[in-house]
Amino acid sequence: MSVRSMKGQRVVVLGGAGFLGSHLCERLLDDGAARVVSVDNYLTGVESNVEHLRGRAGFESLRQDITEGLLVEGPVDYVFNMASPASPIDYANLPLETMRVGSVGTENGLKLAEARGAVFLQASTSEIYGDPLVHPQREDYWGNVNSIGPRACYDEAKRYAEALTMVYARSRGVKTRIVRIFNTYGPRMRLNDGRVVPAFVGQALRGEDFTVFGDGSQTRSFCHVRDLVDGLVRLALSDETEPVNIGNPREMTMLQFAEAVRAAAGGGGNIVHKPLPKDDPKQRRPDITRARERLGWEPRVALEEGLRETISWFRTVAARKQGS
Ligand code: NAD
Ligand code: UDP
Repeated sequence: MSVRSMKGQRVVVLGGAGFLGSHLCERLLDDGAARVVSVDNYLTGVESNVEHLRGRAGFESLRQDITEGLLVEGPVDYVFNMASPASPIDYANLPLETMRVGSVGTENGLKLAEARGAVFLQASTSEIYGDPLVHPQREDYWGNVNSIGPRACYDEAKRYAEALTMVYARSRGVKTRIVRIFNTYGPRMRLNDGRVVPAFVGQALRGEDFTVFGDGSQTRSFCHVRDLVDGLVRLALSDETEPVNIGNPREMTMLQFAEAVRAAAGGGGNIVHKPLPKDDPKQRRPDITRARERLGWEPRVALEEGLRETISWFRTVAARKQGS
């Protein structure tokens, strides 16, 4: 019988020390999970993301590279696979690690779930839609991905991971979930990870110019991490084996986004244009009908509120660094 909350559940979070993984660990402990095990090799995550959880009952943190095996003892009810470099700069610098964690790492996670009879949730991405020709993106759109371009190491690893997850569901009877995550932001993003949110926030706080790639007419839709994590938990607790988009449908151009950050931070310089990276998707917005209908999920945090919170977190981190 399926459970209605994470209370008493034993959960493994692969990539638990990353941006999303660390928020997920925290939410699971808040929900009363009996055991939350973060497994991470700190490739793009940092130990400080989960330091505040160390004293909490049921929390464990293991250093393991999940492409080299995955050793977690004891009973497990849920495995969340959040492990993978996620920022375009990270996966450009770590293309082989990205392909291996999406393939071998995902299979090791699936094997763990199979062995323990656990539910396996795979973190997929809006990138599997590539540079989409259908807008907004629904889960039944197959996408437009360049299989040999600079983003392919990430996009194709994630497409393979989705395919592998479905194979384990169909041929091995593993209970699987697939979430297609759209651009998510919030505290604990790395200031230098190259993604547009930390890039613009850092520039606003330092009073520097905003670096807009291309003409800035490309669009994204930004979801607050609290909303995202709520979607992950709802999906894990559901019986939904088909992929589900989780993201915020409020879409804006990167020029509009720079102005939103300027307004929330109360600072920042001019707009300067830099070259548009190859294969940068021109538009992206999730159709969240499936999440609304099947999970009763929709985003609640307004961009203005979420940006203010994120900016204040980055301010505190910067102040702490100056003081140390
Ligand atoms: P992140 O880089 O902060 O976190 C990923 C974590 O995985 C890091 O802690 C990293 O050290 C760990 N990891 C990587 N390879 C590993 C390995 N071989 N063994 C063990 N741990 C490993 O990224 P994030 O933004 O938190 O993204 C988390 C997941 O969500 C990723 O799978 C990503 O593809 C997906 N996603 C994120 C977004 C977003 O906007 N943040 C959007 C779409 C999909
Ligand atoms: N971008 C930008 N300036 C930056 C960083 C990114 O204009 O300093 C653009 C980037 O070209 C893309 C969008 O912002 O169109 C979102 O980029 P990000 O790397 O955050 O995520 P993506 O959605 O591309 O994975």
